[in-house]
Amino acid sequence: MVIDAGHDLRGNSETEPIGPGSSTRKIKDGGGTRGVVSGLTEAELNMRVAARLRPLLERAGVRVVMTRTRTSGTSMGNIARARIANRAGAALFLRIHADGSTDPGARGSHTLYPALRIGWTDDIYAQSKRAARIVQAELVRTLRFPDRGLQERSDFTGFNWADTPVILVEMGFMTNRTDDRLLATAAYQRRVAVGLCRGALRFLGRQSEPCS
Ligand SMILES: [Zn+2]
Repeated sequence: MVIDAGHDLRGNSETEPIGPGSSTRKIKDGGGTRGVVSGLTEAELNMRVAARLRPLLERAGVRVVMTRTRTSGTSMGNIARARIANRAGAALFLRIHADGSTDPGARGSHTLYPALRIGWTDDIYAQSKRAARIVQAELVRTLRFPDRGLQERSDFTGFNWADTPVILVEMGFMTNRTDDRLLATAAYQRRVAVGLCRGALRFLGRQSEPCS
């Protein structure tokens, strides 16, 4: 499995094509959001959860590759992240993010997966959608944040370049006082990690008990 803690210390304003051969380009990394109460950066929250998830999966016998292990540099962009998953032949490319909104009342968890685009995602669409459904269910069950469901995206560079099943989890909203305050605690970071571990193991067809 490849775990991708979203963003990094600095965003990256270079652009890259949104899919192989595309003339549509998007910025590599807008930098992510930040906790309205905690002041924590999204990049660091993503990293903390990823670092907790890794040993849970390894203990269950899953080989894990991380796209990054610290928050210290300029974001590599989304093609580079997808290539790490492709090179690893990941059974699942799990991208960890938290959301931001101009509406401070928006809260809860949702999971994104690639829309069907012939030549780009047709080979990973069904499995990605299945992974999204399973992981979202386990995450909400463990974290107990409001369930915002699943969302299909055709415009995510990191999806369109992936040759492996891929999902992007938005744990909660760092622009919401409740979500942010909870996600900033070690206890809730652990809950997210356990939920993601259970979802990932179920997707891989394994028992999820080793997660907690
Ligand atoms: Zn993000």
